[in-house]
Amino acid sequence: IYLYNVASESGQVNVLNDILSQNNMDNSGSVVILPDTDKLIPVLNSIPDNYGKFNITINYPVSLTSIKEFIFEYLDLTNSIRVINDEIFFPNNKLFRFLLHPYLKFTDTTKFYKLKNDTDEIHSVSLNTITSYIDKNISDQLKEFKSLESLSESIINILQLIFESLIEYEQNDIESSTLIKVIDNLNYIQTIIKNADITLDLESYKILLNEVLSNESISLKGDPLTGLQIMGLYESRAIDFENVIIINANEGILPPAVNNNSIIPMNLKRFYKMTLPEDLTKNFAYMFYRLLIYAKNLYLIYSSDISSDSKEESRYIKQLEYELKDSGLKKINFNFNDTEKLKSKNIEIKKEGDVLKTLELYKSGGKNSFSASSINNYRECSLRFCFDYVMRLNIPEELTLEIDPATFGTHIHNLMLNIYNEKSGKTVDKNFIQNKINELDKIINNFLESEYANNDIYKGKFILQKKMLYDYCNLILKTDYDYAPFKILHLEKSFKTEFFVNDEIGSVNLKAKIDRIDEKNGMIRILDYKTGEIKFCNADKYEKLFDTNEHNAQFQLYLYALIFNNSITNLKPENLITGAYSLRSGDNGIFLADESYNDNEMKVRFENYLREKFVEIYDVTKPFVKTEKKENCKYCNYIDNCLRNSSLDEN
Ligand code: SF4
Repeated sequence: IYLYNVASESGQVNVLNDILSQNNMDNSGSVVILPDTDKLIPVLNSIPDNYGKFNITINYPVSLTSIKEFIFEYLDLTNSIRVINDEIFFPNNKLFRFLLHPYLKFTDTTKFYKLKNDTDEIHSVSLNTITSYIDKNISDQLKEFKSLESLSESIINILQLIFESLIEYEQNDIESSTLIKVIDNLNYIQTIIKNADITLDLESYKILLNEVLSNESISLKGDPLTGLQIMGLYESRAIDFENVIIINANEGILPPAVNNNSIIPMNLKRFYKMTLPEDLTKNFAYMFYRLLIYAKNLYLIYSSDISSDSKEESRYIKQLEYELKDSGLKKINFNFNDTEKLKSKNIEIKKEGDVLKTLELYKSGGKNSFSASSINNYRECSLRFCFDYVMRLNIPEELTLEIDPATFGTHIHNLMLNIYNEKSGKTVDKNFIQNKINELDKIINNFLESEYANNDIYKGKFILQKKMLYDYCNLILKTDYDYAPFKILHLEKSFKTEFFVNDEIGSVNLKAKIDRIDEKNGMIRILDYKTGEIKFCNADKYEKLFDTNEHNAQFQLYLYALIFNNSITNLKPENLITGAYSLRSGDNGIFLADESYNDNEMKVRFENYLREKFVEIYDVTKPFVKTEKKENCKYCNYIDNCLRNSSLDEN
């Protein structure tokens, strides 16, 4: 009997991989028991590649598959559409969360990526635009949201398309069985709603769907006579195995904590000889010890992960330890450093193949351009840059029904555009600004009504968030009032230029979308709206601008100035100011101005530094690696993927 104590919940499957790799268990006499079905997918992924057939006999909850999540993504998408002049618009981020879901990979996903690239800079995409890019069988479904019935019909149609593709490519039994189950349930719900002649709103439909799918499971049945068996404890009843591996042998899972919620009093249950909680516990104990009768090798794996709910070994393990202490019971504390596989924690992405090809697209003549965020991203972590801008793994931002911090920033930009748009190319005077300050409440209400069509923006958190939008816009306008009159040259305008690096690399493409460019007495200001805190460093501390990420906003403005300067040929360098409106700038007021870009020495240093970075990016001997500054990982989306927040990461 081998007892494996694993320090991490998810590390248990690595122990399984070790056991299977070191012992030949590719036969019908071996079983992996999963008292907790949550572990099925990681267990399947941990079976060594050289293992032949294996069979799964288990009741697998539908809620553990991603089909439920896929359906809810779709419902969410259709719930956030807007109709403007009879045309349907989908919010960009939700649309791509749905279209780029792995379930839709059977369609031509290159079209989705092309659509994503072409609409990268806009907030919402019209149905007509979508139709011209993607397969008709998917775009047709995106029209079907007029009634709950047609919506539910369109979900079934999409699931059926996915099912047919799985059958065609003979893929994944779990997915296809789940799809059948879910389609059945959707049809069933639809029939009930129709027969009961009731009208449900979308929210009620989602609750009903969630309830039905959460209680549904699929029975996966394998052939018990061939190959390695993977089973739930119940399914292993009355079958004899020579090698038994049990994963998650933790108290609360083996045996499971019995839920005693019942409206029938315990005494009544006893009197009528109904099933009692202790009967279930006895049943479990029987099935566990029944498995041990014929087993020659028993491997019990449990986790002592302090962050998980069950961190104690099962009572059965304690019992075995007590009763069989002199009978060759072997206790092993599993050390991750022993596992060769996990030594690959030093993630490195080499600049070759598709990675190199994508990098080439950023050079002159290519379709990609470096932006301030991509360069700042690279300065913070080259691996994250590679994930986001080369491999394009970036996770789309969630569009929430409330105003979260990220959306708050976007709203400020859109509101300021809204306020000054009519003055683009013209002079703004104090009178104009005062009028806008007087109407600010109305402007914000109109804006939010169009953004959150289905929500009441006059209630709850919206009131507080509206006040924040008001305060910030009001501060910007008051600062502008003091500065007026000035001429607005550009608002939210995109600029592109080429930047020469060296003879070997040539030029790379740079792009910027500048919030506002204005002019007064021949002085041009390049301006950015920032909702966070920003700090500008002084001329004597320029190393900090390059060596740290404390001044990313200033770095971004210098890059904007460089791009703008390159695009406008007749501009004298000394006529340029970079500046930002920042809500959190301490005692310095809301507007921070910086004239240092006019210092020629500074400009040369900045350009040289940029060249150095591009030489580094294109140096094929330097792979993309994790940053050494762990503080840069704090808000990174890939923190789990690159093991940065794990005890395994020693770097
Ligand atoms: S978690 Fe850290 S090391 Fe990993 S990609 Fe993000 S920033 Fe880089």
